[in-house]
Amino acid sequence: MKKALFLDRDGTINEEVGFLHEVEKIRILEGAAEVIKKARQKGYLIIVISNQSGVGRGYFGIQEVEKVNQGIKSILGKEGAGIDAFYFCPHSPDDNCSCRKPSPGLFLKAAKEWDIDLSSSLCVGDRVRDVEAGIRAGIKQGFLLLGDMEGESSKLKDLLLDKQQGPRVEVIKNLREILPKL
Ligand SMILES: [Mg+2]
Ligand SMILES: [Zn+2]
Repeated sequence: MKKALFLDRDGTINEEVGFLHEVEKIRILEGAAEVIKKARQKGYLIIVISNQSGVGRGYFGIQEVEKVNQGIKSILGKEGAGIDAFYFCPHSPDDNCSCRKPSPGLFLKAAKEWDIDLSSSLCVGDRVRDVEAGIRAGIKQGFLLLGDMEGESSKLKDLLLDKQQGPRVEVIKNLREILPKL
């Protein structure tokens, strides 16, 4: 089995612009290429898991999501930071699906399709729900990237807080802080 680094997309790999659907608006965040590159060298698969409710809300189509994903993959690929797969939930919050984070559906799907050992995998996101989804799937170490989402750390739920043997969540300010943990 393989280990994976699960990354949220908007606000984690690329700048959060609110329902990103145009390739021209992709801005890769500082540290993303470096972290992905090192994780690959350390044997991690790179899996991006993203809520794209803009589809379910009717703001844009699945095709736009896929174009942006390919755009991100191509920009990072040029820096040797390859992404193995993108998974996204196209539903709106009202759909009550099992793939929108904090539900663990897409993590479980990816684990099955890529033969991933979740207990030795890591997850990073800029929202509590990103990390919660990973932990619920069986990941033991998550990172909450606090950019301009200052309110998020107060939302950390009991289940995510450091426990002696339970899952651990660390709050970071820059993606580069996970480099020593890879
Ligand atoms: Mg995000
Ligand atoms: Zn969904």
